[in-house]
Amino acid sequence: MEQFSFVSAKSEAQAAEAAARSATAQMGASVRYVAGGTNLVDLLKLDVERPKQVVDINALELSRIEPVNGGLRIGALARNSDVANDATVKRDYAVLSEAILSGASPQIRNMASTAGNLLQRTRCPYFRDMAHKCNKREPGSGCDAMEGHNRMLAILGTSEHCIATNPSDQNVALMALEATVQIRGVKGERSVPIAEFYKLPGTTPHIETVLEPGDLITAVTLPKAVAGAKSAYLKLRDRAAYEFALASAAVVLGVSGGKVTHARVALGGVGTIPWRAREAEAELIGKPATRENFVRAAEAALKDAKPRSENGFKVELAKRCIVHALTTVSA
Ligand SMILES: Cc1cc2nc3c(=O)[nH]c(=O)nc-3n(C[C@H](O)[C@H](O)[C@H](O)COP(=O)(O)OP(=O)(O)OC[C@H]3O[C@@H](n4cnc5c(N)ncnc54)[C@H](O)[C@@H]3O)c2cc1C
Ligand code: SF4
Repeated sequence: MEQFSFVSAKSEAQAAEAAARSATAQMGASVRYVAGGTNLVDLLKLDVERPKQVVDINALELSRIEPVNGGLRIGALARNSDVANDATVKRDYAVLSEAILSGASPQIRNMASTAGNLLQRTRCPYFRDMAHKCNKREPGSGCDAMEGHNRMLAILGTSEHCIATNPSDQNVALMALEATVQIRGVKGERSVPIAEFYKLPGTTPHIETVLEPGDLITAVTLPKAVAGAKSAYLKLRDRAAYEFALASAAVVLGVSGGKVTHARVALGGVGTIPWRAREAEAELIGKPATRENFVRAAEAALKDAKPRSENGFKVELAKRCIVHALTTVSA
C-alpha cells in the first residue's frame, strides 16, 4: 500500500479546504474523508482504495438528530445505532430504524455513520479482490462478474460494464422516505434529493454519486412523515444476521377507505443503486389495498429485470418481498 497522511479536521471549512483537491467517495480520489472507517479502512487494507491523504471528520459537530420544518435532520456523523434507536425515527420513520437494525452487527452500527453508510462501496467479490478485472475499481479493465459468480449481484439498473449491487439497507429506506442529502462543497451548500444522488453505472461504473471534489455531506433530511401512513422494511438474505440482502423492500403505504392514498416502494439487493420502484407505486395509487394489486405492483417493479447466470432467482424473490412487505403494512 502507498504511504498516506492522516489529518483531523476541526471545522467543516477546514475539512472542505483540506479536501478541495479531490475528496469524494469516488474511486481514485487522492483525498478521502473518514467517519466510522468500517468501510474505508477495510478497503485500504485490501489495497482497493489508495488515497494519499485521509481527513478524519469525527471532530465536526455533525452528529445531531433534530426536528426541522416538520421533518427530521440527521447529521452526517450520527451513528447508525443512534439513528435506529432515536424515538422520533422509531415513531415516524419506522422503516429507517428497521432497515438499519437489519444490517451489519451492533458493534459496526455503533461506529457506522449516516454519510458513510450512504457512500459504502459494493460488496461485489471481484471489486474487493485485486486479482480480478473490475471496471469500477479500474475503469476499462473489464468485469469478471459478468460470467463469474454473480448470485449476489444486481438485476436492475445494470449495464454491460457493471452489475454490482448497492449493498446498503439504510439507503433503501431513505429512498422510500424521499430523503434529501445536504452537501457542503467548495462553492457553498446544496441539497440533492436522494433519488438524484446515485448514478447508474452506464459506461462509468467508477462514478457512483453526484458528489464533486471537496464535497462534504453534512446531513440527511427527511420530510414530514405522511399522516396515517405505515412503513416497514423486509430483508431477505442467506442467514438472519451479519449478511447483506439478496432482496429487500422498504414500503410506506397510506390507505383510506380501503384504497391506497400514498405509496412509496424501494428495493435493496437487486439494484445497482438503492432502487425506487416508481412503476410499483403507480400501480398501487388509488387502487384497493388487496393482495391482487400488490402482486401487480411487484410485477411492474421487476418488469425490466435483467438477470445473469446465477441471480435469476432474485426476480421472484424480490416480487415476493414486495408483496409480503405491502401486506404487512396494510394489515
Ligand atoms: C462485516 C460487515 C457487515 C456489514 N453488513 C451490512 C449490512 O448488512 N447492511 C448494510 O447496509 N451495511 C452493512 N455493512 C456496511 C456498513 O453499514 C458500512 O461499512 C458503514 O455504514 C459505513 O459507515 P462509516 O461511517 O464507517 O464509513 P467510512 O468507512 O468512514 O466511509 C465510507 C465512505 O464514505 C465517505 N464519507 C464518510 N463520511 C462522509 C461525509 N460526511 N462526506 C463525504 N464523504 C464521506 C468516506 O470517504 C468513504 O468513502 C457491513 C459492514 C461490515 C464491515
Ligand atoms: S460487477 Fe462492477 S464491481 Fe463487480 S467486477 Fe464487474 S465492474 Fe467490478
